[in-house]
Amino acid sequence: MSIKLDNVSYTYMQGTPYQKTAIREITLEIQQREFVGVIGHTGSGKSTLIQHLNGLLQPTLGEVLVDGVNLHTKSAESKSARRKVGMVFQYPEQQLFEETVFDDIAFGPRNLKLDADTVEARVRRAMDFVGLDFDAFSRRSPFRLSGGQMRRVAIAGVIALEPTYLVLDEPSAGLDPRGRDEIFGQILNLYHTSNITVILVSHNMEDIARMANRLLVMHDGIISLDGRPETIFGGSIDRLRAAGVDVPSVTTLLRKLKTAGLPVLGEALTPEL
Ligand code: ADP
Repeated sequence: MSIKLDNVSYTYMQGTPYQKTAIREITLEIQQREFVGVIGHTGSGKSTLIQHLNGLLQPTLGEVLVDGVNLHTKSAESKSARRKVGMVFQYPEQQLFEETVFDDIAFGPRNLKLDADTVEARVRRAMDFVGLDFDAFSRRSPFRLSGGQMRRVAIAGVIALEPTYLVLDEPSAGLDPRGRDEIFGQILNLYHTSNITVILVSHNMEDIARMANRLLVMHDGIISLDGRPETIFGGSIDRLRAAGVDVPSVTTLLRKLKTAGLPVLGEALTPEL
């Protein structure tokens, strides 16, 4: 069980003077139960990459397989494979539209033609995962909630679809530190208490280092590093720099981990020792 990219390239506006190859010949396999962090500079191809994971973008070259099924065969099998991948885009609360929190979270399950009891059970479970009390919130308008609460409603809407793989693009963007900690706490809780696989795009290395058990670094449309976060962050400065990693941020991160009493080695820290 995995998401597999086989030699995937994607070119925007192919055949025009503006054509741009955003990712190049990416071969990657994400196994079920991994928690994968994705980092990289703006424009490195993160968003293009993740939009391939549920078939939103069709590779210009190569193919994407979810649990062995090609996402672009126009078959029922292909459609159900896409449904295994839940996507939370940046600022997902902008897509809330129903009159109540319940209806918004129930929208996806209802589309699957599930019966009312199953829909309610899924809404309750999803609200529980994102820390929203059912009785207090389900009848409220999503538009009268705080920014952090709206975001949780939006994330609950994806969780209610019970995806096998959950892809989140900067889920904490624009939240205050408390809101950020809460969202990440809930994602970690979901990861630890279910069978879900998480793929998390974040510019915040500290969050990734804390949560992910695998790190992908993107640089100019390729995956320049792939490994355990502590191995990557503890690696040689030259290697990090060549892979497009922001070295001062790594140094700050390592210093924080060290202050917190966590064992870190890392060339990026050495000048300070
Ligand atoms: P990231 O998510 O890491 O910021 P993106 O995947 O958004 O990177 O972008 C990768 C490259 O593709 C960038 O050079 C970007 O300008 C280009 N790109 C992204 N979206 C489009 C688009 N809709 N049309 C043309 N080029 C795009």
